Amino acid sequence: MAIEHIVIVGGGTAGWMAAAALSRIRDGSDLKITLVESEQIGTVGVGEATIPPFVDFQKTLDIDEAEMMAATQATFKLGIQFANWGQVGESYIHPFGAYGYELGGIHFHQVWHALQERGDKRPLQVFNLETMAAYFGKFSRTQDYARDDLPPMNYAYHIDATAYARFLRAYAEKRGVVRRESLVKDVGLHPESGYVTGITLDNGEIIEGDFFVDCSGFRGLLIEQALNTGYDEWTHYLPCDRAVALPCNRDDGTPAPPFTRATAHSAGWQWQVPLQTRNGNGHVYCSAYMEADEAHDILVTNLAGKPTADPNFLRFVTGCRKKFWNKNVVALGLASGFMEPLESTSIHLINTGVNKLIATLSLDGVNEAQASTYNRVTRKEYERIRDFLVLHYKATRRDDSEFWNYCRTMDVPDTLTEKIEIFKANGQIFREEDELFTATSWAAVMMGQGIAMHGTSPMAAGVIDGVAKEVDEMERSIKWLVQQMPGHQQYVERYCPTT
Ligand code: FAD
Repeated sequence: MAIEHIVIVGGGTAGWMAAAALSRIRDGSDLKITLVESEQIGTVGVGEATIPPFVDFQKTLDIDEAEMMAATQATFKLGIQFANWGQVGESYIHPFGAYGYELGGIHFHQVWHALQERGDKRPLQVFNLETMAAYFGKFSRTQDYARDDLPPMNYAYHIDATAYARFLRAYAEKRGVVRRESLVKDVGLHPESGYVTGITLDNGEIIEGDFFVDCSGFRGLLIEQALNTGYDEWTHYLPCDRAVALPCNRDDGTPAPPFTRATAHSAGWQWQVPLQTRNGNGHVYCSAYMEADEAHDILVTNLAGKPTADPNFLRFVTGCRKKFWNKNVVALGLASGFMEPLESTSIHLINTGVNKLIATLSLDGVNEAQASTYNRVTRKEYERIRDFLVLHYKATRRDDSEFWNYCRTMDVPDTLTEKIEIFKANGQIFREEDELFTATSWAAVMMGQGIAMHGTSPMAAGVIDGVAKEVDEMERSIKWLVQQMPGHQQYVERYCPTT
């Protein structure tokens, strides 16, 4: 059946990202797009840290960066600082961008390791622009440099997610997306095919559609409640199942740092996301080891300013739907699954979900091959991200609480065990199935939490004599560039002051 009407259920970050991106395929067709959202239900109200592909999402939509950043109180993000993960008192930065650069197919951290074996004392961090800029609170975009022989700056944003959804709503409505404000009361299914035929609003009106995008949040109104798709739980590997979020002001005069903070506590971890005039904060924790009151107290004790709202208590189950595309429904955002926001991957998965949907969709109708391919690729994407998140817990040396004892000793997926063992042997990292996280990401977390390379890569050892000058130059140019950069706060105030 031809697709003439796409109905999006939900107007959170997922719903409006889908609406904005899909509005671009309306051009030159009669395709109708309707988004239904309910203010009575509201949105999850969190989700402020992003990763670099999100910058490309704005570019695909021809969104002016400075305008979007001003509208969302945004700041720049160069990576995440993890504190107390390997051991209490330790910290490291997982940066965007690479350590050094690939030298003949060898990862730079392997070359660095070979240099260390020869007595070089320089830390790996001095070969990463984003880490050095983050340490010094500096920022510049690549296009600001006067020279083109310098490493690019890889960044993402911290955004006010509610303001971002509002921003995209204006974008999508301008391009013909029709918004309906109503509670969805019922979902109609075709008696034979089981395809969704329409949704019933609380005034009794039925909105019929040919294709549906379920962005209804954790409840999964279409994908789960109507289609009973099923959910694969990953709570064994990612046992945190609660969060309490609490924004605070930043009136202590400190500049907004260009990175997210993720600080581990006794049964979970706390995020701090600096926006232009406030910080987003939250404490993700495991209810088997901590009560809500204690989680809230820990968060309040560790806030950098005064709370500006009531605490928002949230529950979740880590895992994903057995199918992301079922019949004529694709689930995006929280409706499709959830992994905790340790590496800011949820909005990214909305982004890649929308991209895959647009790439796959034909207005002539849906077929099984589209759904099964979408499901297979998305499942792999989820699993590779899951492994990376699990690494943060597994690679702890903490033994100061029951929670960390569980994480340190838990079984993990074989795919992760193999990755760790190969890294220990000589620092090699194989990226599989187009996975999101790079060799630098894996190396940053493994080394940051105390997993060492025991052996030297013979290939790396073989090149170090020839690359000594290049390596010195790399360090010098990063140092020089960071010195030239303005402070991050100063940059934001000039480039995209909040409106
Ligand atoms: P929601 O925001 O819940 O929106 C659901 C929509 O569906 C709403 O508009 C609601 O009104 C509508 N709806 C539901 N039922 C009905 C109905 N019956 N009738 C009509 N409308 C209905 N992601 C990141 O990338 N970075 C982060 O830093 C990050 N931090 C997070 C922290 C926490 C604690 C949590 C839980 C999530 C975090 N996320 C983060 C994930 C991120 O918040 C979500 O991916 C993102 O907000 C998308 O949510 P959503 O649009 O799927 O759902």
